[in-house]
Order: sequence, then C-alpha cells, then structure tokens
Amino acid sequence: MPALLNRSLVIHPYLVDHASGSYLHLADGRSILDACGGAAVAVIGHGNAEVIAATAAQMQRTSYIHTGAYTTTAAEDLAKFVLECTTAVNGKGIQFTHGLKRAFFVGSGSEANESALKIARQYFFEKGELQRQHYVSRRQAYHGNTFGSMSISSVVGRRIPYEGVLLPNISFVDPAFEYHYRRDNETEEEYAERLVRELEEHFLEIGPEKIISFIAEPVVGATSGCVTAPKGYFSGVRSLCDKYGILLHFDEVLCGMGRTGSYFAFEQEDGGVLPDIVTIGKGLGGGYVPIAAMLVNDRIVDTLRRGSSVFNHGHTFQAHPTACSAALAVQKIIRREGLVSRCGDMGIKLGQCLRAEFGHRQYVGDIRGRGLLWALEFVKDKKTKTPFEASIGFGAQIHQAAFDLGVAVYPCVGTVDGVVGDHILLAPPFNISEIELDIMVSTLRRAYHETSQPHSLT
Ligand SMILES: *Cc1c(COP(=O)(O)O)cnc(C)c1O
Repeated sequence: MPALLNRSLVIHPYLVDHASGSYLHLADGRSILDACGGAAVAVIGHGNAEVIAATAAQMQRTSYIHTGAYTTTAAEDLAKFVLECTTAVNGKGIQFTHGLKRAFFVGSGSEANESALKIARQYFFEKGELQRQHYVSRRQAYHGNTFGSMSISSVVGRRIPYEGVLLPNISFVDPAFEYHYRRDNETEEEYAERLVRELEEHFLEIGPEKIISFIAEPVVGATSGCVTAPKGYFSGVRSLCDKYGILLHFDEVLCGMGRTGSYFAFEQEDGGVLPDIVTIGKGLGGGYVPIAAMLVNDRIVDTLRRGSSVFNHGHTFQAHPTACSAALAVQKIIRREGLVSRCGDMGIKLGQCLRAEFGHRQYVGDIRGRGLLWALEFVKDKKTKTPFEASIGFGAQIHQAAFDLGVAVYPCVGTVDGVVGDHILLAPPFNISEIELDIMVSTLRRAYHETSQPHSLT
C-alpha cells in the first residue's frame, strides 16, 4: 500500500525512474516519448543541464525569502523578462509590451487564477464599485482545482461533489467552439457576432454594473481540445468589456508562453486584443519547478497604487527564488534558441502530418491546432458529429494503445459538453526533433488502427 495519496486509490501510476529530452524512462525499463509534456508543461523537455545548474546556483545563493520584507534578483529579473515576452522581440532591446506592468508569481495555475479573481475584485473595491461581485466565465472551460478557480470552471464531472459549496456568484456563457456549435447557415464571422451578442445579453441580464470580470482561455486547452475562437470574437468581447467597465482576464496557463507559436496566445487575435489580466503557468517553468504567474496591466496597478497601495493577497512561497531562477533559465533558453517561432514552424508540420494521416479516417471528426498544441477529436459519425458513448472510452483506449507502443498523449473526455466526446491532446516540447515528431504520428496511427477495430467499439 502506497503512503502517497495518488490520483487513484486503486490504480497505481507508472514509476518514472528518470527523464531526459523528450523521453520518460520507466522503472520497468520502458521508454516513453512524452508527446504531451505531461499536461503541456515540458516545453524544453526533461533534464536540461543549464536549468539544473541555474537552479542549484540560486539555491546556494538564496534558497528562500519571505516577500513581506524581501525580494531577490531572480524574481525581479523573471518578472521583467516575462513582461517583455512578445513574439515581436528580436533583439530590439527592452520593450514593455501589451500594457502588462506587473507580474505576481505563485506555485500553480489555480493559485494564479485565485490571485486574478482577488485582484479584479480589489480593483473595483478601491474604485468604490462595491456592487461588483459577479464573475462571468464560459462553459467547457478549465481554470483550476481550488474552490475559487473551480467555481469559474465548468468541468462537469469534477464539480459534482462540490455543488452547493462552490461560489454562487458566477455564471457561464457558451464556449466559442465552431466544430460543434457554429450553425450550418452561419459564417465564422456571423458565429462570432452571435456569441458576442449573446454575451452582451447575458451581461445585461446579470446587470453589467455588477460584473467584475470575464474569464476565458484564448485557446481552450484540455476541456475541449485546442479550440481557437472564430475571427472577431475576442475583439468583440474586448469592446463589450470596455463598454461596461468589466475586466478581461485571459487564462493562458496552458496556451501561453509560446505553446501556440506566439508568447501569448492572444497575440494572434485579430485587432490586437489586450487583456487586463493574464495568468500563465504550465510552460513558464517547463516543469522544472512549480511556478505560475498573474500579470496585470497599468489600469489595475495604478488603481491599487492610488488606493490602499497594497495587493491584499499573498502566499508563503510567492516569488520563490529557486522557482523563479529555474523559470528564468527555461525562458532564456526559449528566447535564445528561438523556440517560440520553432514551435510555430513545427506546429505547421505536425498539422500537415496529422491531416495527411487522420483527415480521412472514419472516426476522426476534427483535427485542430495552433503551434505545438493539437487535438484529434473522435466521433462515432463524422457527418452528424455524433460522439461515441462515454462507456466506450474511445479516447482512453487510444491513449492506452499509444502508451503501450511507447508514446504518451493526453486523453480527455467530455469534449462536446463536459459529459460526452473524446479527444486527445498533443503538446510535445518546443525542441522536439523531426524524427520524434514522426515517431509520434506513426505510433498514433497504429494506436488508432487498433482502437478502431470492431471489438474495441462495443
Ligand atoms: C492546468 C490549468 C489550470 C490550473 O493549473 P494548476 O497548475 O493545475 O493549478 C488553470 N487553467 C488552465 C487553462 C489550465 O490548463
């Protein structure tokens, strides 16, 4: 019996002995190509010597300080570096971009989103708009597992035991999910316009003067599998938020830090959509340390400075020097080696391979992606886009078949509405080799072939 409370109390997870580059080496001697970076985390692969050296050096210099009284250059430098992060940076010197002015480092994406919920409320508190107590989020969104961040998430299964206990002052609008929800008689632009119209109706129903923020993933990660918004959607959302004084919070915990081929996923939205708050996480430390961040724009910083002049929030391990130093080493490697644009280029290649290999397959309904974040969505009937019954576990079967063949992908269920639907997510390291990319796709082909046999489908 393990002493560790694993995710499952009955199934024991695989024991990893060591990991290097794109591979996990299991204690039983098998090697697994990590095609999903855990959960889109391992952006530069495992075991990078430069990151390890930087982390050890920071530990030797200063392993911990409490931010109530102290700061470190590791944390200050990382904040500066991250705020400068923009796909446009090409040695033109320091550029503070996107209006994001301060970074707040925490230990997880959930904590980053908690911090965002709190600073957004504090912003209106300082402005005297005390009636703003409501958040609007989207269905089919994941923002974390703590009470606040789960309250703004709509992952149906995970919420069930906590219904009645989660925060009540949150409502959900439809996701921007073309494959399932754009009507046949709508163009992409018309679909975007309808969603923005529905969002405004929702704001008006709640009372826009009561709303704190609207929260969305620019590219939806795990819940529905790399879903990008229709053209014009986010600029419409930004205008609505401006019209009613509502803050716009982008959750880029999964899609940010280069994953989609630009540092921030929102950089690829038409019309230069700028958020008030961005949360980042998974790719920030690349898995070397637990670290995530909340970034806020000058509007928020200035309001707090003029008001109480403190952020009424904090954690023991915030801006942890060792974590910050590891993340800074990861980010420096990404910038130096041009890995964000490589991620974009490799993503185009991966997309072409996936379309060539799976475009015509009977049970592959949609192939979608941006950068090195791709999803295959599986359906029972391609014409009607009808998903498999949940009991078949099509995605889980593909995942297991691929794993047995030596490639780890990220399986997800509830793609369509939180209950039915299957997809797998691919999110390899930005520095994955072309050969490894080929192994990934050819292994997936074999896994698909095994899973699509009649005996697997009943
Ligand atoms: C993973 C994730 C989170 C939660 O991050 P944790 O580090 O697991 O707490 C929040 N938002 C999105 C979009 C995520 O993918």
